Amino acid sequence: MSTTTARAIVCSEPGADHIPGTNWQLQDISVPIELKDGELLVEMVASGICHTDLITGSLPPGMPGVQYPRVVGHEGSGYVKAVGPNVTKDVKAGDPVLLSFDYCGQCESCQRGHPAYCAAFFPMNLFGVADVFKSKDGSQGIAGKHFGHSSFASLSVVNQTTVLPAKDLVKSKEELQLFAPLGCGLQTGAGAILNMAKPDKKDRVMVLGLGGVGLAAVMAAKICECEQIIAVDRVKSRIEMSKELGATHGFDTTGVEDLTAAFKEVTGGLGPTVVLDTTGFLPIVQASYDSLGSRGCFVWIGANMDPAYTLNISIGTFMTNGTRMLGCMEGDSVPHEFIPQLIKYYREGKFPIEKIAKYYKAEEFKRALHESHTGESIKPIITW
Ligand SMILES: [Zn+2]
Ligand SMILES: [Zn+2]
Repeated sequence: MSTTTARAIVCSEPGADHIPGTNWQLQDISVPIELKDGELLVEMVASGICHTDLITGSLPPGMPGVQYPRVVGHEGSGYVKAVGPNVTKDVKAGDPVLLSFDYCGQCESCQRGHPAYCAAFFPMNLFGVADVFKSKDGSQGIAGKHFGHSSFASLSVVNQTTVLPAKDLVKSKEELQLFAPLGCGLQTGAGAILNMAKPDKKDRVMVLGLGGVGLAAVMAAKICECEQIIAVDRVKSRIEMSKELGATHGFDTTGVEDLTAAFKEVTGGLGPTVVLDTTGFLPIVQASYDSLGSRGCFVWIGANMDPAYTLNISIGTFMTNGTRMLGCMEGDSVPHEFIPQLIKYYREGKFPIEKIAKYYKAEEFKRALHESHTGESIKPIITW
């Protein structure tokens, strides 16, 4: 089979510590140029690093569906290099594209317009497909199509379902790079507010965790002109940034003993009416849930797969308060509708993602991971 060479961040089998990134290396890989039905070759210009890459790129090797070596990355943008057979998307070689998550298009959720809840979401997105790539000498298969596209490669084989044609959306290569993270983290945070919680001006919105997802939610709450937008973290620089993006209150959890009381106090004793958790950190989740005001809506984004992770819910209070709880996947977005809407907000100055983006060359990816971990970088974007 004809192939070409590309560079990719390849995850090898993780060590016993499963520390994300320690098993990742930048290397040359072999990419097929003969495409299958519905596939495109995309020359990547940028790949946002999302927390899910850190989790999925260091999962224990024995887990069903997990294969090594593999290429992850699921926020990508680039130019179409080649279009395979039976591609129905309106794209040709040279066109800019944004990449998002994959879905089957057939299940009930997909048919009813909610692809983020696709019945096949996990296998299609988190596990990827074996042997999409090969090592440079061709001796070893490398899994790809993480979220249908594996954006951590300078050239990748992508499913057309993940492709958003962008020739009418972007004005330059620089914009294409900036918009890469719209495909997951930013649409998740913004969608949690705009598509799911749908607050009005009277709502008191509390966002827990101020990474890219949380800060996108802050920007979206500002778009909804919510009366109070409380941004919660323990990293001072992120709290400062949240205020620049529209938070009316910054809340530092450092040293706070009774978080429930403090969350109520900051909302004038009534409690927040929307809580959006991106931390997955149980003490904060429980405290914020307990502080919810009347008809409060709790949106879950922060993943925590620990079986010991349970939330105490009083059924009586849940009912009489009219509490709503929503599980958030990708902000319940339909990417080809929602991403253009976010770009429109960006152009109106209402979604200033350039303030949270930080660029790193592919060879600097370890620094990007480190600075993301320390809080120095909010939305790291790898450029190719
Ligand atoms: Zn589906
Ligand atoms: Zn993601």
